[in-house]
Amino acid sequence: MSKILGKCPYCKDGRVEVRAIQVQGAPLKLYACTNAHWHYESDFAELTSDSTCGFRIFQNQLRRWNKKAIGENEIRTLLKEQQVKVRLYSANAKKEYFKWIVADREYGVSVVWDEDV
Ligand SMILES: [Zn+2]
Repeated sequence: MSKILGKCPYCKDGRVEVRAIQVQGAPLKLYACTNAHWHYESDFAELTSDSTCGFRIFQNQLRRWNKKAIGENEIRTLLKEQQVKVRLYSANAKKEYFKWIVADREYGVSVVWDEDV
């Protein structure tokens, strides 16, 4: 039984669960809708034909903004309140800053850049 973090924002009966996957040999958490399953072929993932939803968030999805991992509690809050505040880090300015992230059907999450926290 997988750990459930909340309700999928994009389908009727889906729940977002924690899955352990491997990406390029390294373990990674995937937060995925219970109605979404993938075939993995080398590093390419394709939704199975019986999947009715494709919503997923990769744990390391905000890595390019220097957030190593999105935590389970952050996902819980995001699913419950439609947004969650995350701490990012600017390597240029050498300082941390905060932004809201929201669910994104295609990309999992997206950062709300034009709104200050
Ligand atoms: Zn779903």
